[in-house]
Amino acid sequence: MRFDERTEPLLEDIAQKIITCRKCALHEGRKNAVPGEGPQHARLMMVGEAPGAKEDESGRPFVGQAGKLMDELLAKSGIKREDTFITSVIKCRPPDNRNPNESEVISCVPYTLAQLDSICPAVIVIMGNVAYQIFAETFYLPKKNISDVRGKGFRLHSTGARILVPTYHPAALIYNRSLIPQFLDDMKTVQYHLKVLP
Ligand code: SF4
Repeated sequence: MRFDERTEPLLEDIAQKIITCRKCALHEGRKNAVPGEGPQHARLMMVGEAPGAKEDESGRPFVGQAGKLMDELLAKSGIKREDTFITSVIKCRPPDNRNPNESEVISCVPYTLAQLDSICPAVIVIMGNVAYQIFAETFYLPKKNISDVRGKGFRLHSTGARILVPTYHPAALIYNRSLIPQFLDDMKTVQYHLKVLP
């Protein structure tokens, strides 16, 4: 299919809906919703859990301490942040950075799935156990802990993305730096898939 024949909404249109969304109670406490950022036709999409304080302040994804570490590790892996679409599975900050509850997940996941359909990336990286469990439920992936599935490539059906690779959330790497080599290994897997996939 040629790009001009696609019928999926553009990222910009999805972002506008997210910015004004009031589908769940998280809109009440937000300063900004955080739709995500990156090119419309990115070959790589990276998805974390939810915005933190810095992201809520700025409306931009992964701009806090964890984001800085992620940028550093992506650069080390030869992956350019500006070529990547980066977002989180929940678009508004949960109070005190708690895990999102079930109704928040049900309300918000369709936005991430719409972004996935709109971008059609070759590879989607899911960062952290919370985001992975949500994707596992949605796409019938193994319901295992992130430490058991990280670095594996799962073929996704019925989405634009062809391979899903789970890995640790960069925030976990700040507290446990011994996980950094595993994150870097997972990025090698990502680079491999990016190279072999058309
Ligand atoms: S978290 Fe998602 S569903 Fe809830 S208000 Fe924000 S954008 Fe809407």
